[in-house]
Amino acid sequence: MRIVYGSELSLRLKGELKEKLLGPEFKRKPKLAVVLAGDNPASLSYVKGKGRACEEVGMDFLLQHYPEDVSEEELLKAVSDLNADDGIDGIIVQLPLPKGLNEKKILDAIDPAKDVDGLHPVNTGKLFLGEKDGFVPCTAQGVVALLKEMGEEMCGKNAVIIGRSKLVGMPLTKLLLNENCTVTVCHSRTQELAKIASQADILVVAIGKPRFVTAEYIKEGACVVDVGVNRVDGKLCGDVDFENVKDKCKAITPVPKGVGPMTITMLLENTARAYLLRKEK
Ligand code: NAP
Repeated sequence: MRIVYGSELSLRLKGELKEKLLGPEFKRKPKLAVVLAGDNPASLSYVKGKGRACEEVGMDFLLQHYPEDVSEEELLKAVSDLNADDGIDGIIVQLPLPKGLNEKKILDAIDPAKDVDGLHPVNTGKLFLGEKDGFVPCTAQGVVALLKEMGEEMCGKNAVIIGRSKLVGMPLTKLLLNENCTVTVCHSRTQELAKIASQADILVVAIGKPRFVTAEYIKEGACVVDVGVNRVDGKLCGDVDFENVKDKCKAITPVPKGVGPMTITMLLENTARAYLLRKEK
């Protein structure tokens, strides 16, 4: 059994990206802008992490922090100004937004060419139509990078994804199809979930239920990626009961230090790509 740390892979990828950003393709540092509304402690901490990661690789970072009672019009204006600013390559609106704000309307206002979270319908459409110049949600990309790091040949393998969210399960479905996996997507209404999961050569779990997946869900020799982030008694844990399943796996990611760091690294890569794609136009 091998534990595959996203923290280690992301350090390596950030190192490579830092080098690349110094190369001739980049006439200036790519710049990521984050729009944050309110003081949700988790959001503040995520945004801080994104700022730090930009600094590590030599990217510029702009935080636009609004109070909890910001109006929808103000946020739409902020997004529109960032869209128009040629010095900004990537834009993220940090979720969740304070109650009463129309999340979808604000996210859809982001220019798809700067939508480095990959949540705009144009980018979702591009992903599912197989067009290569869109942006893919960062966590789903991070999962595929971790599976590649596990050294698993994905072509023709049975992949089971538990969870069908727009952020993780749905985009991952298409990414694993692109790798020629046979993909089964499970959700809260799936019957005989353990039986289906236990057929998987590749199992990805993204449901938000602490230590939900136990040994009966695991095929001997499976590669398991745990996307879940849950807090139990003040400690972080995943959706997979790591201690219970690890000896059955060929490779498994831990929580923390698994998928989390990869999400941020993929955001940096998307921002660098956004710079290059916009430069080409
Ligand atoms: P979400 O939008 O709440 O979706 C959860 C999905 O899990 C839904 O499709 C739901 O099914 C399914 N589900 C819930 N309970 C289930 C059960 N008992 N059996 C089978 N399926 C079940 O969540 P999300 O945004 O994808 O996030 C999932 C987890 O990943 C959370 O812990 C989140 O914190 C974590 N996450 C981590 C990162 C990272 O960077 N590490 C990034 C994103 C998310 P239905 O569709 O039928 O409701």
